Amino acid sequence: MLYVKTLEESNKLLKERFSAFVNSETVPLIHATGRILFEDVLSGEYVPTFNRSTVDGYAVIASDTFGCSDSIPVLLKNCGAVIMGESPDCDVTKGSCCYVPTGGAIPESADAMVMIEYADVLPDGTIAINKPSAPGMGIIFKGDDVRPGVTVLDAGKRLGPADIGALAAMGRAAVSVYKKPAVVVFSTGDELVLPDETPSAAQIRDVNQSMLLSALYKTGAEPSGFGILKDNKEEIKKAVNDSSRDFDMVLISGATSVGVDDVAEEILKELGEVLVHGIALKPGKPTIAADVRGKPVIWLPGHPAAAYFVYKLLVEPLLLGMMGCKENRREAGFLLSKTIPSNHGREECVPVSINEGKAIPIPTKSGLISTLSRADGFIIIPRDSEGIKQGEQVNVILF
Ligand code: AMP
Ligand code: MG
Repeated sequence: MLYVKTLEESNKLLKERFSAFVNSETVPLIHATGRILFEDVLSGEYVPTFNRSTVDGYAVIASDTFGCSDSIPVLLKNCGAVIMGESPDCDVTKGSCCYVPTGGAIPESADAMVMIEYADVLPDGTIAINKPSAPGMGIIFKGDDVRPGVTVLDAGKRLGPADIGALAAMGRAAVSVYKKPAVVVFSTGDELVLPDETPSAAQIRDVNQSMLLSALYKTGAEPSGFGILKDNKEEIKKAVNDSSRDFDMVLISGATSVGVDDVAEEILKELGEVLVHGIALKPGKPTIAADVRGKPVIWLPGHPAAAYFVYKLLVEPLLLGMMGCKENRREAGFLLSKTIPSNHGREECVPVSINEGKAIPIPTKSGLISTLSRADGFIIIPRDSEGIKQGEQVNVILF
């Protein structure tokens, strides 16, 4: 008999039990991509440290250019040219200007730039400006990007290329990130063979191991695959027991439903404390979660689609919590292309593809995997719902 919990209850229980994984390490900037920032990053300096031009052109006093046009250009004395990487040595006063290349430092006394496209150099060297500029135009001011004491990146953020760029701009060559939880993955089943083996008549290839390792990799954990275990209680028990010592989490699939050969609950009861046995989720009901030596052991259903949905909805949130990640999962609203009936008292995951702004349900069975690989995401039909009608707005959890 399964005493099922809702997904929400299960998530809460696991989160409360296993939230204590707080561990950081310092890594070089280029190795920080995809990692979770451990502490807030404040800037200690101005970025940029000087006023820079955003165009190739002339630094001017904006009011000098007011009212000029193609037919009545304003004539300014050229007082020099700024060299990239060097401080300006020309002083722009009323009636004068100075050439500044893109990214060059603008003389203190100037307050605007005019693009070279709107300036002509006359034979005597005078600059004829034919388009007015406003104060601040064409300038990135000192501290526009970053000011000292301001939090630029918040702890818990997953670092992407733009964040790495911001850190580089602030002079950070290394950054403190959460350690990756080490997660071990086992498959169970006498019928399973490795992906590079040819299954005989009643055998199948192990899908879950590769799929879960990939999912863990994407979440940002440190995955290790320990292969296929036979449906042998002692062998499985030893593997779970040993690995709970060495890893931060154990993921195992197959042999979870209540049946003659299903030994999962027995093993976990002998090794630790069973926290969840059965989740009101379709597919994914026969899921077991336990605490062994203070480590989460999550035993997923054997059917690949079921294992994947439970990974996305139960395992991933737990891992993200352990990793300190504050990012929200990617979701978006779409109109449903076709009515989906549902009435079994469990939350139901339905894979969907997205086309022309519509979510199109993909008919599948929990033993299939290629259907899931065609999906862009999935929707969750609530427990008490009779289904969702065509044309209704649905929230798609994107893969
Ligand atoms: P079980 O939970 O062991 O009863 O497995 C349920 C179904 O999932 C059975 O059809 C198994 O053959 C299948 N299955 C179990 N483990 C895997 C796996 N690692 N890869 C693919 N299918 C699996
Ligand atoms: Mg099995």
